Parts: sequence; C-alpha cells; structure tokens
Amino acid sequence: MNQRMYALGSRRSVIREIFEFGKQRAQEVGKENVFDFSLGNPSVNPPCIVADTLAELVREEDQTALHGYTSAQGDLSVRRAIADYIRTAHGAEADPDFIYMTCGAAASLTITLSALCNEGDEVITFAPYFTEYKVFTETAGASLVALDSDPDTFQIDFDLLEKAVCEKTAAVLVNSPNNPSGVVYGEETVKRLAKLLEEKSVQFGKTIYLITDEPYRELVYGGVKVPYLTNYYPHTIVCYSYSKSLSLPGERIGYIFVNPAAKDAKSLYLAVCGAGRALGYVCAPSLFQKLIARCQGVTSDVSVYERNRDTLAGALRGYGFRCVQPDGAFYLFVKSPEPDAYAFCERAKKYNLLLVPGDDFGCKGYVRIAYCVSHEMIERSLPAFEKLAKEYSL
Ligand code: PLP
Repeated sequence: MNQRMYALGSRRSVIREIFEFGKQRAQEVGKENVFDFSLGNPSVNPPCIVADTLAELVREEDQTALHGYTSAQGDLSVRRAIADYIRTAHGAEADPDFIYMTCGAAASLTITLSALCNEGDEVITFAPYFTEYKVFTETAGASLVALDSDPDTFQIDFDLLEKAVCEKTAAVLVNSPNNPSGVVYGEETVKRLAKLLEEKSVQFGKTIYLITDEPYRELVYGGVKVPYLTNYYPHTIVCYSYSKSLSLPGERIGYIFVNPAAKDAKSLYLAVCGAGRALGYVCAPSLFQKLIARCQGVTSDVSVYERNRDTLAGALRGYGFRCVQPDGAFYLFVKSPEPDAYAFCERAKKYNLLLVPGDDFGCKGYVRIAYCVSHEMIERSLPAFEKLAKEYSL
C-alpha cells in the first residue's frame, strides 16, 4: 500500500472534523442553535439561467452526444465560448487551443502542477493559503514553499519573495480573491510581482511560471477590480472554476488556460493534456461543459455575500475582534484573541460557534469564518460571538 496515500485518506481534515461535530451538536441542541461557519459551500442558488439551460440542453440536444465523451481537452465550441469571453471581458489574448476543460479548480491545479513540475522543484505560495496546495504540489513531486504575507494587510511580502525565489522555483502560485483572507491583489501588487518574476527568470536563466487559482474571481465587493494576470505577466497559467461563481461546486467544472504568449506555451499545453491523461480525468463532465458555454459572464447574486460580510465583519469588530476587511471570496480571517487558535476554536464551540483554526492555512493565531451561510444564521449567531468576546475581555 502507498503509505502517503494511506496517511492522506486516514487523516480527516480539520474542516471535516468540525462539520461532523456540528451535525452531532445539532442533534443535541437543535439545528437552529448551531452556527456552522466551517465550510466554503456557496449558500446562494445558481442563477436561473443554470436550470433553464439544463432543461434546454436535455430537451433539445442529441442525448447521446450530450452525455457522451468530449475530446480530452474539452468540446471545441465550449473552449471557443470561453476564449471569446476572456477576450471581451478581460481584454486578454485567448485561444481555444490553449484551454483545457477540467473538473473544477482542484483538478486545474493538480493537472497544472503535474504538467509544470519535476522532482525536486519548488512552488512558492503565500500564507494563508488553500489547505490542499501542499497535497497537490507534493503529488506533483515538488515541494510547497509558503511565505508569510504582510501581517497587517495579508498582501505579498516582496522582501520575503525576493529571497525565496531560486533556481529550484518552477512557479509562484497565487489566489486572489483569497481563501481564507478574502484579500484581493490590486494592480500595483500584480505589476510588482510580474517585474520580480521577470527579473528572477533572467537571473536564473529559466522561466518562472505564475499559476493563478481563481475560483473566486467574480466574488468581489464594492467595485473592487481583480486584474487579469496574463495581461501583466505572459508566463501565466489560469486555473479557473465555476464552483463558486455559478454555485456549482458539486458539478465539478472549470478549466486551465495557458497564456498563448507564455514561454513554450504549446509544449506546456501538451503537458497539461498529458497530465490530465496520466491522472485519469478522461474529460470534464460533458453536460456541464455545454451548460457553462451558455452561461459565460453570469454570476450568482454576490450581493448576498456582501451583506453577510458587512453584518458579520461590522459586528465582530464592534465586539473587539480584529480582521482584515475582505474585498472578495466569502471568508473572514479573524485574529485569535489567544495565540493558540485551536484553543480559541474550542472555546467558541461552547457557544456552538464552529470556526476553523488558521494553522491548516499555514497561518497560526487566526481563525477562518466562512460567511457563505444564511443571513438569519449570522444574525442569530451574533450574541454568541459577543459572549465569546466578553470571555476574553475584548
Ligand atoms: N482553490 C481555492 C482557493 C479554493 O477555495 C477551492 C475550494 O474551496 C478550490 C481551489 C477548489 O475548488 P473546486 O471546487 O473548483 O475544485
């Protein structure tokens, strides 16, 4: 048996543990008295166009083709629709022959990392980061180097990045809007990152690629802009997913877009096809490929998340908790009032508040609160947060 796989399978993630605890607690005290902020599952319905298009597809399309295999990289008409959208929405060069349909961002990342990395390579990312990055990177034979972000803003600490990039660096992996901090990298940050990667690529005589993990691209508030990274750094690979933008996480649909202007783009795209094949993906779900082709530019109602953010962040700050204002995604990353975030989460459980320690995101002393829940639950949970704050005399 493969011991690494055994270890991965037998160790339940902290988030899953909390979720299971919540179910048990709900039986004891009633569902309405448990405030589960553990999971990043969208709480907003998919836009109506999703159900309408599904019905249309099932009614009108040739059923054998609709549910049949597509080509491994995805149906050409679907890839064309995505390339058109990238061109018009982001003003970026795009080509269907550089798009590869996937089963969501997790698949986009595992395939991209396998396509890019060789044994001994390093992939740099910034803490806090999505917990699975380490697993995905190590599965690709590389190691993840997680750099602390600026503690006041959770933006990139460029001094640390400057020192960390070396001849082993295959790629830098960014996630903006970020899970778990909600932070968005603005244009200045992106320009600085591009400049640094260009200089380091010259210094080490190799191309350092930029991987951008973008399941939350459209989930931004107050008109915040998320720069499209291929417009700033040519050697960019976009890992996109519709899990959050269309509230379809269980349907497993997304894509990889290799920027045609990237160094060795054609070969890299072929390596992406090879990695998808080696990992046994065959093709992305056929029905949902066709669905998303007709839903380009559509997003679930993000005003619901924005309202949740405003209510929760406002109330928690009022009680004395500290957190960076999230401009996107649907998480608050709150400073734990005691150094041990696990201990804080245990205390929160007394009030049936289920929070996730930041340690798993590579950031000790913080907790993640996923506010993709009903607004009523947020309102009902506030007295519990207030009592918790009082325990710490905040
Ligand atoms: N990347 C980040 C930052 C995420 O938060 C998630 C899911 O929560 C994923 C990737 C995986 O997304 P998907 O469901 O599209 O595989």
